[in-house]
Amino acid sequence: MRVFVAGGLGIEREALRALQGHAIRLAWSEYDTGAERGKLQPSVNYDLLNEPVSHEHAEMFRDNELFVDISGSRKSCYTLNDIAVRDGKRAVLLDYFGGWRLVHVAPEEPCLACIARYERPLPGILLPPPPAEAVCRALSAWADNHSMESKVLDLTSGEEFPIEPNPDCPAHSGEFSFLLGRHADVVAVSCGDRNVAVSPMDPVTLDLKAHRELLAPHVKIVRETPFFFEFETAQFSVTLFRQGRIIVKGSKERNTGMWAYRRFVGA
Ligand SMILES: [Zn+2]
Repeated sequence: MRVFVAGGLGIEREALRALQGHAIRLAWSEYDTGAERGKLQPSVNYDLLNEPVSHEHAEMFRDNELFVDISGSRKSCYTLNDIAVRDGKRAVLLDYFGGWRLVHVAPEEPCLACIARYERPLPGILLPPPPAEAVCRALSAWADNHSMESKVLDLTSGEEFPIEPNPDCPAHSGEFSFLLGRHADVVAVSCGDRNVAVSPMDPVTLDLKAHRELLAPHVKIVRETPFFFEFETAQFSVTLFRQGRIIVKGSKERNTGMWAYRRFVGA
């Protein structure tokens, strides 16, 4: 079976092992993905697309049969959910809603958007690590179960729930807005030799003080004004503006900009 996996949460190695035997295409973009290329899981057959999932290249991978999202990006989950509903494919989506849950979407059955509309998630850095073992156990049990219905596995309690059809679900009303790019939230612009700027497509106004307090335990804040604050993380320095724009110093890669946006703003 052809399986598409959107990575990003750091459990790609285990997930590839759980899906061993399938033809896997992994889309994953962290700032250091380049160095990892091909070395992630040498015993498993997979190719790596060095890009996060976006509507821009969603059509490239629509011929897969199963779509797995372990990216930590809710937007990526809803994009793959749109593909599953539109094309009658299966999807397994790891979503955070105050706790981790794994959503299975079966063809012609209720979907992730039937449960809840997309809302901007927390910055990725604030999410607790996902329970890799439980996720991978479910992945390997579910991948070959083609007759499985749509359901939710609550990874905190271990309980499973069916998904009720929702007449207001946009995807089930034929509105695949994530595939049309209507929720594309960023325009990334490389703006120098050693930095990349990422601006939101739609204007957002962050509560800068609250946002700084959220991030402060995880990064080193080095500068602060009413309009922006600047912090250091990994080998980068990031400036976050009140309008949601960020500038990452220490890289000129679009992917690094997207990584930082999801991690420190949320998408
Ligand atoms: Zn639906």
